[in-house]
Amino acid sequence: MRHGRKSKSKRFNGYKQHVGIDLDTELVVACAVTPANRPEEEATGALQEDMAHQDLYPDVLLVDRAYLNSSMAEDVLASGGDIVCRPWRGASAKPGLFGKRDFKVNIRDGTLTCPAGEVEPFEPGAVVQFDPEACGPCKLRPSCTQAASGKGRSVTMGDDERLQKRLRSRLRSSTGRAGLRERVGVEHCLAHLANRQGPKARYRGTRRNLFDLRRLAVVQNLEVAARYQLAA
Ligand code: SF4
Repeated sequence: MRHGRKSKSKRFNGYKQHVGIDLDTELVVACAVTPANRPEEEATGALQEDMAHQDLYPDVLLVDRAYLNSSMAEDVLASGGDIVCRPWRGASAKPGLFGKRDFKVNIRDGTLTCPAGEVEPFEPGAVVQFDPEACGPCKLRPSCTQAASGKGRSVTMGDDERLQKRLRSRLRSSTGRAGLRERVGVEHCLAHLANRQGPKARYRGTRRNLFDLRRLAVVQNLEVAARYQLAA
């Protein structure tokens, strides 16, 4: 079955459409379709293939964070490019307890400092365990952890902690937030495509629905081209 989720309460069945858009020209330059229950990152290989056929290799990627673990994001970063998107939300802190954002991440030194000033080294993707001997008598313990007596606070670090830190700090600046808003163009494009298609997939199977998405994208691109012509 192909059941996907947009949120905890909102489910959908069928397929996910993925498009690559050149925000300068507003043209759809890549299309992919996956079953609704597959993660977004599985679509990026097909999107990259479409773009490679046109010699397009993005150096700035504006994406939804669901695409952050993709090969496309890795390739853009590896070639010195940039990614503009919201950081992972992270596991929410238990009510009344410090969340991860209350800890200071020092990427250069590879250390994590807790609100009481205790410092522990970290490795990307690993769980940092604070020293039980420091946590035990700590005055902030009631606001920090509900770990059993004799155990300290633990914090899970992301594989891409450096990138996440950059994304989090951008979110705090007005320029960073303005950069994120540029992705509105992608949302508009997706809304136009969805309007053309209607609420249901036209076919069964990803291959046929990919054909349908390409057809819709061609019509949309022709409309954009016509708009350019009228404005010239
Ligand atoms: S309980 Fe441990 S991790 Fe939490 S603030 Fe105190 S020393 Fe730091």
